[in-house]
Amino acid sequence: FIYLFNFKITVGKNGVPVAENFRLEQSTIADTVQEGQVRVKTLYLSVDPYMRCRMNEDTGSDYLRPWQLSEVADGGGIGVVEESKHDKLAKGDFVTSFTWPWQTVAILDGSLLQKLVPQLVDGRLSYFLGAAGITGLTALLGIREKGHVAAGANQTMVVSGAAGACGSLAGQIGRLEGCSRVVGIAGTDEKCSILVQEMGFDAAINYKKGDVAKQLRELCPGGVDVYFDNVGGDISDTVISQMNQNSHIILCGQISQYNKDVPYPPPLPPDIEKIQKERNITRERFLVLNYMDKQEASVLQLCQWIQEGKLKVRETVVEGLANIGAAFQSMMSGGNIGKQIVSVSK
Ligand code: NAP
Repeated sequence: FIYLFNFKITVGKNGVPVAENFRLEQSTIADTVQEGQVRVKTLYLSVDPYMRCRMNEDTGSDYLRPWQLSEVADGGGIGVVEESKHDKLAKGDFVTSFTWPWQTVAILDGSLLQKLVPQLVDGRLSYFLGAAGITGLTALLGIREKGHVAAGANQTMVVSGAAGACGSLAGQIGRLEGCSRVVGIAGTDEKCSILVQEMGFDAAINYKKGDVAKQLRELCPGGVDVYFDNVGGDISDTVISQMNQNSHIILCGQISQYNKDVPYPPPLPPDIEKIQKERNITRERFLVLNYMDKQEASVLQLCQWIQEGKLKVRETVVEGLANIGAAFQSMMSGGNIGKQIVSVSK
């Protein structure tokens, strides 16, 4: 028997996801592994904001397929090969995929799996779902492709969703790439203090407390040159209002809008759009999957920074497949610091 996680009920276009959107079932898998396939034991699964879009009948994007009711949910995952009939994979290999089924054991097509090198992350395999995986790539490539960061240019970067998986790395990478000042915006005092004390941000603002616009003006006296936007909505409108002429938004994500039925990227309110146009602020769509030709070199760069201690990594780990729905819901409402990981088996 294996355990698997089904997607149970749709959340509705404007609904907030809850753990009860999913159900855990016991099931069986085939007895035999066919030519080209491997049997894997799942070690870690990732829960990510984009999954909220997969809960709608229409995901709003051509690269995301909606989860079907009663279908096993899937996403980023890591596991170990237990049996292989694929010529490039052997028992004991650690492998990953973006479409890993949410089940304890699975038979997968070996050609869809990427082999991992645990030494690159000193054995901390779950990092391949975060800082040394898509999340790290999103932060690094977002900054390099859309941020126009130049060493010595005295730029101020602001990061929203700053204590999350992408945001916590983005601020640190912004500094490594040459920004002279990095300010984060996050949802609790604890998150803000971790950003400053552990991750080298110059300052952080708790957006749930006080006047964000006023604090931002005080903390970014020269205005904002680069904005790594994870959240959209009111927070982003406030930041954009304080951006400089010819500055740049890295349009990473808009999580504050994902439970609403709006197009992506959501249009800016007219007064903010006017500012964006008048100040020639770039706001181009960024999708990390469009830059996979840079994946290998970028992962090596991220691993090097991690090993050198230049990139501090935080994870929030939930144990057990049974808790993946709750982990997803928690991440969507700010329960995580750094990357939200589900540890399925040891
Ligand atoms: P994450 O930041 O680790 O987790 C989500 C965080 O969003 C929560 O911890 C919460 O922190 C914050 N949040 C939730 N609702 C919010 C709201 N209404 N207003 C402000 N903040 C809110 O998730 P992640 O995986 O790193 O993803 C961050 C963003 O990057 C998402 O928008 C995601 O879609 C995007 N992304 C884009 C790409 C790409 O290719 N463009 C790739 C990966 C991820 P607080 O406590 O601070 O509220």
